[in-house]
Amino acid sequence: MLRFAPSPTGDMHIGNLRVAIFNYIVAKQKKERFIVRIEDTDKERNIEGKDREILEILQLFNLHPDDVYYQSHNLTIHQHMAIKLLEERKAFACFCTPEELEREREAAKSAKKAYRYSGKCIKLSDAEVLANEKPFTVRLKKPENNVEFNDLIKGEQSFAPDDIDSFVIMRADKTPTYNFACALDDMIHDISLVIRGEDHVSNTPKQIHIRNQLGYDKEITYAHLPIILNTEGKKMSKRDDASSVKWLLEEGFLPEAIANYLILLGNKTPCEVFCLQEAIEWFDLAKLSKASAKFDIDKLRFLNREHMKRMDSKELSRAFGFADASIGELVKCYLEEGSTIKEIKPKIEAIFAAKPYDNEWKEQMEKLRDALNKTSTFETFDELKSYLMKETGLKGKNFFKPLRLLLTSAEHGPELSNLYPHLKSYLMEIVK
Ligand code: GLU
Repeated sequence: MLRFAPSPTGDMHIGNLRVAIFNYIVAKQKKERFIVRIEDTDKERNIEGKDREILEILQLFNLHPDDVYYQSHNLTIHQHMAIKLLEERKAFACFCTPEELEREREAAKSAKKAYRYSGKCIKLSDAEVLANEKPFTVRLKKPENNVEFNDLIKGEQSFAPDDIDSFVIMRADKTPTYNFACALDDMIHDISLVIRGEDHVSNTPKQIHIRNQLGYDKEITYAHLPIILNTEGKKMSKRDDASSVKWLLEEGFLPEAIANYLILLGNKTPCEVFCLQEAIEWFDLAKLSKASAKFDIDKLRFLNREHMKRMDSKELSRAFGFADASIGELVKCYLEEGSTIKEIKPKIEAIFAAKPYDNEWKEQMEKLRDALNKTSTFETFDELKSYLMKETGLKGKNFFKPLRLLLTSAEHGPELSNLYPHLKSYLMEIVK
């Protein structure tokens, strides 16, 4: 079983979407289930409605989960497991206050040393624990030996006990920390492979240690994906608009193109333009580059145009808020003029809008409009052209400029003869 485990704490980042896509693809390849687990145990950081937003984005990208779980529903199991670890003396109650710990952290920082927990509360006896009425956290004792795993992308990894440290598994409010809940849920859900972002590499030995201490011996394989960099070579953060999936969609990038781009990024693929179903046939995690990849919006723009070209015209029309296939065809004529829905949509809407007569072509436009209103539609652009030229006596620039304005509201654009076949059934609606 594979899983995508987002936290409902902000807009979905393209790095998260990439993780979701890869988990989905590999689940399909292995014919295993793909589940979504909303990691909602950090109540202070949760944002109302973000879970639904994440699920809607997954639907939009056709990443349909076999099941959706909320981590908070497993709270009783998390608590029972913490009690088990306490009983077995693998974990201990820690009464250090946040202020005390912060002071220790600051001291380590000034001494230019990595912070490590002092180990103070490990020594408390049961009687001392019971006599203390103050709130406490639960810490798991650090391992005795290095924790090692073979990452499918990063290769052999080894972490020393001190780097894992005796870390908190239950907060003072008796909710599990991310590492504890995540390690347990991967066990409960029988996860076989975890694909996630590189920022989690240092959490992995902690999660393995938790499961080892609980006697879970089934191995979970890990693949940590390199981070995505912005054009300045820094990790793409909230400050980069393009890091938000919602922003990209609002900018008018198609889900198909975004998914294509995220699969292509830092990868060796047999072709450049493809859909999710095609990627399932050849995708190979081992071919992903170990190095971070740079986000290139121009490449995404190129792919967006390619996907609009490929798209069924009716579907494309719907993506633009219309219904007829001919509008989809019309959009395809405008791919030289723009590469996103946001850029092309105003041009399509201008075709159906009231036309601008307050310009040097006013007189000619009126002549053409009157001529058009006198007749019915013509099959080809040439027929229309001959009729209008004869009827109005206009020719050359005096004919084409005003006709273009009358049909599209714009002075420049695609060849009218290319647009006409897709416009002709709306001619009466357009000429106003
Ligand atoms: N909830 C974590 C996050 O959103 C992901 C954890 C994981 O994949 O293990 O970063």
